[in-house]
Amino acid sequence: MAARTGKEYRDRLATSRPTVQIQGETVSEGIPDHPAFRNLVDTYAGLYDMQHDPALRDVLTYPSPTSGDPVGTSFLVPRTAEDLRARRSMMKTWADASLGMLGRTGDYLNSCLMALSEAEGFFAQADPEFGRNVRRYYEMVREQDLLTTHTLIPPQANRATAATQQAGGALAARVVEERDDGIVLRGARMLATIGPIADELLVFPSTVLRGTPEDAPYSFAVAVACDTPGLRFLCRETLDYGRSHFDHPLGSRFEEMDAVVVFDDVLVPYERCFMLGHPELCNGFYSETSAVVHMTHQVVTRTTAKTEFMLGLVSAMAQAVGIEQFQHVQENLAEVIVALETLRAFTRAAECDAEPNAYGVMTPRWEPLNAARNWYPRLYQRFPEIVRKLGASGLMALPTEADLAGEVGEDVERYLQSATLSGAERVRLFRLAWDTCASAFGGRQSLYEYYFFGDPVRMSGALLASYEREPYLERVRSFLRQDGR
Ligand SMILES: Cc1cc2nc3c(=O)[nH]c(=O)nc-3n(C[C@H](O)[C@H](O)[C@H](O)COP(=O)(O)OP(=O)(O)OC[C@H]3O[C@@H](n4cnc5c(N)ncnc54)[C@H](O)[C@@H]3O)c2cc1C
Repeated sequence: MAARTGKEYRDRLATSRPTVQIQGETVSEGIPDHPAFRNLVDTYAGLYDMQHDPALRDVLTYPSPTSGDPVGTSFLVPRTAEDLRARRSMMKTWADASLGMLGRTGDYLNSCLMALSEAEGFFAQADPEFGRNVRRYYEMVREQDLLTTHTLIPPQANRATAATQQAGGALAARVVEERDDGIVLRGARMLATIGPIADELLVFPSTVLRGTPEDAPYSFAVAVACDTPGLRFLCRETLDYGRSHFDHPLGSRFEEMDAVVVFDDVLVPYERCFMLGHPELCNGFYSETSAVVHMTHQVVTRTTAKTEFMLGLVSAMAQAVGIEQFQHVQENLAEVIVALETLRAFTRAAECDAEPNAYGVMTPRWEPLNAARNWYPRLYQRFPEIVRKLGASGLMALPTEADLAGEVGEDVERYLQSATLSGAERVRLFRLAWDTCASAFGGRQSLYEYYFFGDPVRMSGALLASYEREPYLERVRSFLRQDGR
């Protein structure tokens, strides 16, 4: 099978039987038609259809090394700098189509699986079978073009104790039994974004496990189908309120559901296990395999697309109401331009200085990408702030689509016209601005970007610990040694 169409994605999801609990109901069939998911499913289906657009298919697909059929370019194992650019072009094309608002398009975790599948030597430190399992799993996901999501973090009950010790160790997902045919998982993880509309869930290590015997049951990396018996998704309420694209331009298209994942004694066959025990290997799971580098390459490409959207949005708003002449407005627009060019520079630097890793995978330079992923969570908070500042009351003078067609339509044209736009055009633009910075959807986007890679505070600590500072310390020491001359 090859890169799939939107219909193939939707048809598979329609036959899936996950356990999805949302707003008081338990849903186990008809996910593509459920009001909380159908618009997002349409959006994801549109991305899969792009793979078959004659104008895009050479960007979005490449010939499978096993079947020769076209498969998604995010599965391509890069061997050259050109391959890295091809991967980025694919990722940018999908990110542009969603204005960078979708965080779990398939290319994100396809990039992770690609890097893991090449790192057989890393997995062999635990068991050579794990490396073979990862490779077979990656090939299955590639050939069937499956959509995966991941869940990493233990429940947030008490962060004053070790993650694995909360409620006496009874909360976090853990291995409770090793049987002849596989392992049994019990407990919970939070969160899995898009869990209900994904095909597969990667239950991968969280960031730091202690190397103690008590941590061993919590140290594992496995994959399960999203409709595996015993697996449940506890969803938050939907932020897609069923309104039109005019009224909720982003929420009606890009609302990616977040769900707590509960494992009620979920059996995972051994062929779906990639790591069992070995906390120290779990801690190096992403870095030693370069998976984190390729995941971040995708994320910075996406956030670049999102920043381009922000620049377009604030520019359109400023022009619409004639405020671009004011210096502080220019300063805000310039701030977005500088952010955009900086993100592009990070990517360019990472690609220019790319080198093959220990497994022969051409790997972008980590430091610029690591800097970008540490910066963006804070940077992103600034964008909605600028949109709110420039939009002001225009973000509340927002009649709905129904109003435009009704008796207040004439008032909208007269009183809500702008320097460059008709009343209806201006309302359409400012509804987009509102959904970016002030709606429930916009609020989740800010939270999502802030915590995308984990807690930014602890990420800063990890950056500091891993960054080679000795040459700069030595430069200062040597300067100080010049005293007294
Ligand atoms: C919208 C959204 C979608 C998400 N989707 C996914 C997903 O698809 N898959 C997935 O695996 N995860 C997902 N996550 C979870 C994400 O990985 C976590 O939010 C992130 O790792 C932070 O962990 P936490 O939420 O448990 O916060 P906590 O760790 O509980 O932190 C809460 C606050 O306490 C502070 N704090 C807590 N412990 C410490 C400490 N030891 N030292 C210093 N400060 C501390 C933090 O700085 C922070 O301010 C999602 C999160 C959000 C918000």
